[in-house]
Amino acid sequence: TFHPASRVSNISISPTTVAAQKARDLKAAGHDILNLTVGEPDFDTPELIKQEAIRAINAGETKYTPVNGTPELRRAIQQDFATRLGIETTLDAICVGGGAKQILFLALMASVEKGSEVIIPAPYWVSYPDMVVANGGTPVIVACPEDTGFKLTPEALEGAITPNTRWLILNSPSNPTGVAYTAQELKALGAVLARHPHVWVLCDEIYDRIWFASFEATSIVGACPALADRALVVNGVSKSHAMTGWRIGYGVGPLPLINAINKLQSQMSSCPSSISQAAAAVALTGDQSGVQAQVAVYRERRDRALERLNAIEGLSCIEPDGAFYLYANCQGVIGKSTPEGQVIANDQDFVLYLLEKAGVAAVHGAAYGLEPYFRISTATSLEVIDAACDRIEAACRALR
Ligand code: PLP
Repeated sequence: TFHPASRVSNISISPTTVAAQKARDLKAAGHDILNLTVGEPDFDTPELIKQEAIRAINAGETKYTPVNGTPELRRAIQQDFATRLGIETTLDAICVGGGAKQILFLALMASVEKGSEVIIPAPYWVSYPDMVVANGGTPVIVACPEDTGFKLTPEALEGAITPNTRWLILNSPSNPTGVAYTAQELKALGAVLARHPHVWVLCDEIYDRIWFASFEATSIVGACPALADRALVVNGVSKSHAMTGWRIGYGVGPLPLINAINKLQSQMSSCPSSISQAAAAVALTGDQSGVQAQVAVYRERRDRALERLNAIEGLSCIEPDGAFYLYANCQGVIGKSTPEGQVIANDQDFVLYLLEKAGVAAVHGAAYGLEPYFRISTATSLEVIDAACDRIEAACRALR
């Protein structure tokens, strides 16, 4: 029999993947399921980007590339960081991987070992704690309740730092809440980090182009330039350019860290797909009107879902600044009973009730480290959002 290494047995399969699979299985078995678990754009990759991939194939750009990515892609990333975020960087301070996920994993692999603590504000993207555990470190979860806008406060950060702290992970805009930090809030967190020079900051800004807020998207490195020598800013094209299957993500950071990531990458995958790199370069430098059009649609969906959820008794939801999720508070239904007499004891019970009795698939808040909530994705049509909200409303009304 196969006995996995402890780095595998100590982690679990992403709960979002499990929820999405359950919804797909029920659908395949003939059930009428509206799936709101999906964490990827429902749009197709813009035509311009697809044509560039076809060009790359026909031009024979089908070989290994440099471990740290093609110069064309790194130049595109460099330009994007400079123009959008005011972050100046050299080409060798950029690493490229098979998705932002791989860059985050490699960054932790390069820096975390037994005894290393990584501060993760909750609610968090489900992968962060397991990525830390898989690399032998200890996740330090800091609850960021709704009354602080689901955001890490300087006091909470200060309280979580120990001599063993290696990283703070900041995700803005956040999956699952959609909230983003303002420049002022980032400066306040930066002031705490200034007092603790051994703490590095891992900034996951993968959703920063899917942006609705009236304030401007800022990176912590833009807000606190002094942190540049201990920050890794991670981004990618998966969400912004509807390119989840192409698997390109990237990071910008201090050379010693980038070199360590590249060293691991050289032994792990050599480089990401040459064709996807060509396409990603055009995604970043080409016409951005496709992105703008998609953001406008996401905004309309967010507005609709927000209005509908907030009109349902027992539920409430704060307004996301970006991304394509809503993290709804379901405290008002906890303790009630279903028509069959089952008590809804927590958000997992509620999400199961929605799935089995209303045919709506969502993900329970406990999976993201803060209860009682549930996450819906708005990367689906207005029709599906409306129909799902009708069903959620009826299901809530049926509770006693
Ligand atoms: N970071 C966050 C917060 C995400 O939600 C996701 C995808 O779900 C990723 C990173 C991974 O992005 P990629 O597809 O580029 O690996």
